[in-house]
Amino acid sequence: MNFTQELQQALDALRAQGNLRRLPRLEHDGRYVTTPDDGRRMLNLSSNDYLGLAADTDLRREFLETLTPETFLPTSSSSRLLTGNFRVYDELEDELARRFDTEAALVFNCGYHANTGILPAVADAQTLILADKLVHASLIDGIRLAAPARCIRYRHNDLAQLERLVGEHSGHCHRLIIVTESVFSMDGDRTDLRRLVALKRRYDNVLLYVDEAHAFGVFGPTGLGCAEEEGCTRDIDFLVGTFGKACASAGAYVACSRTVRDYLVNRMRPFIFTTALPPVSVAWTLFVVRRLVAMDDRRRHVLRLGERLRARLAQRGYASPSVSQIVPMIVGPSADTVLRTEALQRHGFYALPVRPPTVPEGTSRIRFSLTAALTEDEVDAIPL
Ligand SMILES: *Cc1c(COP(=O)(O)O)cnc(C)c1O
Repeated sequence: MNFTQELQQALDALRAQGNLRRLPRLEHDGRYVTTPDDGRRMLNLSSNDYLGLAADTDLRREFLETLTPETFLPTSSSSRLLTGNFRVYDELEDELARRFDTEAALVFNCGYHANTGILPAVADAQTLILADKLVHASLIDGIRLAAPARCIRYRHNDLAQLERLVGEHSGHCHRLIIVTESVFSMDGDRTDLRRLVALKRRYDNVLLYVDEAHAFGVFGPTGLGCAEEEGCTRDIDFLVGTFGKACASAGAYVACSRTVRDYLVNRMRPFIFTTALPPVSVAWTLFVVRRLVAMDDRRRHVLRLGERLRARLAQRGYASPSVSQIVPMIVGPSADTVLRTEALQRHGFYALPVRPPTVPEGTSRIRFSLTAALTEDEVDAIPL
């Protein structure tokens, strides 16, 4: 068999398992998506636009009015360490550090860069990483790149197991880094950050890394995430979040100490060896971040929608671990999940199946990702 035939065989095997992925042809129309092939128009239940800001043309109009051809800067033309460090970067980082009440913040091109770059930069051969079993693929890749640092995955959200592991290993390694998400992307559940902070405080060589990709904008009194809600932004050594979801922009941040920031600027490869985000994109992020404070109505609304959908799922016998705007309907087999998803789409609801390897075998699901642009009636109309 030649190379192409081998690849084709692998693709055929994926298709046979119901796990073949394809790029959907889509057009966006506010809260709706249309598939041009069949002209179908569906309510978008798969977007990470949790606050409905990506669908908000008034907000974009307001931002556009702040721009002129001189200030609309579509490229940074280089890495921030060369000539790409525009002032708007410093403004955004100052704003984030002030709001998080941390010494510093550093902005990256995306969450994937943050998560594949920070751990390899700070871990050495005597570091042990303890990571939740369900952390995002970008963190898994970061852990791999952090080798020779070792890693142990603890059972999802099993903090008792984590406490045992920390107790067992803290005496034998130079440093331990606990890695978790605050709101988990596939189950929509949350971890207990206060308990993690209490655990970390009992040892002087334990650090805490928290990814708030799904919480930034949605949780916390001013939208800064679960760490803000639980009053522990300063207790987390690497407080990471992204701008591509609730913030309707692109990029990511870490809120951290000044020393950690300086160190990452010197050592983090996905920060150093890439062209910085376009300044106009960073300006839009800053524009949105400043408005997050006043978006409590949207936060409350989208979280209420989550409760409503979970109550409907429970009536139909679907237990859901979710406590957030991400609500999985766990069907089980991939093929059934795909059929159920197609039926939803025929009824005008654009939800997508999530299958292995993204989720464990046998837990294929329809992942509803709710946004504040949806109404209660629309959520009630989803045929479950
Ligand atoms: C989406 C996501 C990322 C990646 O962020 P991007 O900015 O899209 O690269 C990282 N971590 C988690 C938990 C995510 O859900």
